[in-house]
Amino acid sequence: MKGVRQKDTAPEVAVRRCLHAHGLRYSLHRRDLPGRPDIVLPKRRTVVFVHGCFWHAHDCAHGTVAAKRNADFWAEKLSANRARDLRVQEQLRRQGWHVEVVWECQASDRAYLGTLTRRLLSR
Ligand SMILES: [Zn+2]
Repeated sequence: MKGVRQKDTAPEVAVRRCLHAHGLRYSLHRRDLPGRPDIVLPKRRTVVFVHGCFWHAHDCAHGTVAAKRNADFWAEKLSANRARDLRVQEQLRRQGWHVEVVWECQASDRAYLGTLTRRLLSR
C-alpha cells in the first residue's frame, strides 16, 4: 500500500487536535505496531486509525462511490485494503490494544470526536 497512506491528512490533524485539547498525549505512526497506527496513546493502551472513506471502503457515500474506470481492479484493491485493515485490527487486539477507527467523514463531526475523547479519557 505504498503511496496510499498519507501522513498528516486534514482528518488526522482534526482528530489529533481534539485529543490534544483534552490533555491526551500520543505518538504518531509507530512503526513497531501492526498497520502503523496513525495515533497511539500508550497510557490508554489505545490506537486510533483515521481512515479515508474511499481507500478503506467505508460504508458511506464517499466510500461506496464506484470507480468507473477499471472497476474490477478497484473492487479487488479496495476489498484487499479492507481485509488487511481487519487483520491488522485483530493483531492489535490480540496484543492487548483497544482499536478505534475514525472515518474521514466523521473527523469533522465535533459530537463524534467528543464521544471518542470521553471514551479515551475513561481508559
Ligand atoms: Zn465515510
